[in-house]
Amino acid sequence: MSAIKCIGILTSGGDAPGMNAAIRAVTRAAIYNGLDVKAIYRGYKGLITGEIKQFKTQNVSNIIQQGGTILKTARCQEFMTVEGRQLAYDTLQREKIDALVTIGGDGTLSGARIFATEHDYPIVGIPGTIDNDLFGTDTTIGYDTALNTIMDAVDKIRDTATSHERLFFIEVMGRDAGFLALNGAIASGAEAAIIPEIATEVDQLGELIKNGFRKSKNSSIVLVAESPTTGGAMALAERVKNEFPQYDVRVTILGHIQRGGSPTANDRILASRMGAAAIDALLEEQRNVMIGIRNDQIEYVPFNKAIKNDKPINRDLLNTLRILST
Ligand code: ATP
Repeated sequence: MSAIKCIGILTSGGDAPGMNAAIRAVTRAAIYNGLDVKAIYRGYKGLITGEIKQFKTQNVSNIIQQGGTILKTARCQEFMTVEGRQLAYDTLQREKIDALVTIGGDGTLSGARIFATEHDYPIVGIPGTIDNDLFGTDTTIGYDTALNTIMDAVDKIRDTATSHERLFFIEVMGRDAGFLALNGAIASGAEAAIIPEIATEVDQLGELIKNGFRKSKNSSIVLVAESPTTGGAMALAERVKNEFPQYDVRVTILGHIQRGGSPTANDRILASRMGAAAIDALLEEQRNVMIGIRNDQIEYVPFNKAIKNDKPINRDLLNTLRILST
């Protein structure tokens, strides 16, 4: 028999579409297995301040289709300190919460790993971030929805790019990872993607200019990952304007539109599977693992691996994009 009778659940870091579907799945799977569920509001902040409510099955009704997170999310500096994490531990003891499920990105899992080690406390993580930058899972919750949002936006911008014969740099999210930019470019038929993974290897804009952008077309669209290593869309556009005044250049920064909206079927299914798997993992006495899905199989990925290992970009995709934009 597992010693776990009550689990806590929280969302932390940047919100991602599908987080609600994960909250629903964790809650329902826990109740199905006879566990109590306590919802913690505003991420690690709520753990410190004790913003907690018992959840029944109806608390998660009608949320699978909603973007954002009903538990709210926050960035919490205090949890970065030993004292802050002690307060969080005290809350868990007081509330008689035996284990935690945390949904969030790289930072959320880093915090979970430190806390779990410091207090010898069982935590299972669920990867919820549009950036898709966690190792050990093919995709993260929210990534597919964000990708579809980008594709829709680029489709619209293309109308103007074509009508005015312009070159558009469209900036998308992904500080350290080019998954959204690269796959967004392929999905929307863009000319190129400028991504952080290869920014230090080649001058991606230089290569594009050298090849004369798309010679056979009168407009071009380039997706740029917002990252200090790519320089961002504004800086790249300035460079083109200065060096090649003949190009009619425009910039669109998609910004927070990429985070919102109703999750796609893929994200809802991913979140539902991962949420149920998180409860299985706890009942199997797993701890300090992130739930991943690779090749359609659930995997338990140690926090260390999920956080520390860089998830590689598939370089074949770069080649595909290059070939298809000639
Ligand atoms: P996203 O990928 O969308 O940005 P994230 O989970 O990476 O999401 P962060 O803001 O980096 O978002 O982290 C969320 C919270 O996790 C932080 O506000 C902090 O409370 C906690 N956290 C992050 N890193 C650490 C750490 N090294 N030690 C303790 N807590 C941490």
